Amino acid sequence: MRDFTIDKYNQLLDSLIKQKYTFQTFNEYIIDPAKRSIILRHDVDDRPNNSLVLAKIENSLGLKGVYNFRAVPHSWDESIIREISDLGHEIGYHYENLTTCGGNYEASINDFKLNLNKLRKLVPVTTITMHGSPKSKYDSRDLWKNYNYKDLGLIGEPYFDINFDKVLYLTDTGRMWDGYKVNIRDKVKSVKNMNLQNNNYKFHSTDNIITAAQKKELPDVIMFTIHPQRWHINNKLWLKELILQNAKNIVKRLIVIINSKKPSP
Ligand SMILES: [Zn+2]
Repeated sequence: MRDFTIDKYNQLLDSLIKQKYTFQTFNEYIIDPAKRSIILRHDVDDRPNNSLVLAKIENSLGLKGVYNFRAVPHSWDESIIREISDLGHEIGYHYENLTTCGGNYEASINDFKLNLNKLRKLVPVTTITMHGSPKSKYDSRDLWKNYNYKDLGLIGEPYFDINFDKVLYLTDTGRMWDGYKVNIRDKVKSVKNMNLQNNNYKFHSTDNIITAAQKKELPDVIMFTIHPQRWHINNKLWLKELILQNAKNIVKRLIVIINSKKPSP
C-alpha cells in the first residue's frame, strides 16, 4: 500500500493507540505532561482542507492534537480553524514574521501581535510554532532574542519549551520520516535528539514506525510534526466509511473495557 495516505495515517494512529499513549495537545503537554504522551502537531502550511480531514479522522478515534495556522490566505481559513477547534483540537499560530517583514524586528513583533489577536478572536491560542520557510534567510525564532512570547500569554514554542533530549521528534518532511537532514529549519535542537543518537529511532516509512510500535520499541514521549497537505486524501465516500468504522471500533473498545471491569460472577 502507498505511504502517506490517509489510510496509512489511520493505521499509524491505531498502532499508537494500542500502545496506550495519552494523546495530548501541545498546551496540555506543557502544563501537565503525561508519562506516555504523544503530541500530534500539524503545521498547516497549505491546503487547510487536508487538515480538516485529518482533524476529523483523529476525532473519530477519540484523539486530539494541535493545528498551527499561518497568517497567509492559503493556510488561514476561518471556518476551518473554528471547525477544527470545535472537534477538540488545539489551535496554534504558525509564525514567520521575520521573513514576511524582511528582518525588521519592530515590524515583526507588531505583525506577530496583530495576527495572534486576529486568531484569538476566533479560538483560544496559547502556543506557537515557527514556520521555517526554506528559502528565507531569516529564522523567525530570532524574534525571541528581543521579545518574550510569554508576555503575550503564550506558554509554549516547541523549540524553546520541549526538552528534545527526552522527546522523540518525528517529522514527515519530504514524505519520509528521515528527511530532517534535508530541511535545516525543521530541525529541533536535533544534534541532541534521540532519533539522531539512537539507531532504533531512525524511520523512513510510516510502516517502520508502526512496526516499532508493535514491537514496543517506541519511547515514552513523541512529537509528530505532520504537514497534512502532504498526505494523499482518497475520495469522500471512502473517508466517511473510515470515520464510521473508527467510531464503531471505539465503541467496541469501550465495551471490552467495561466488561473487564465487571466483577466476575
Ligand atoms: Zn510550516
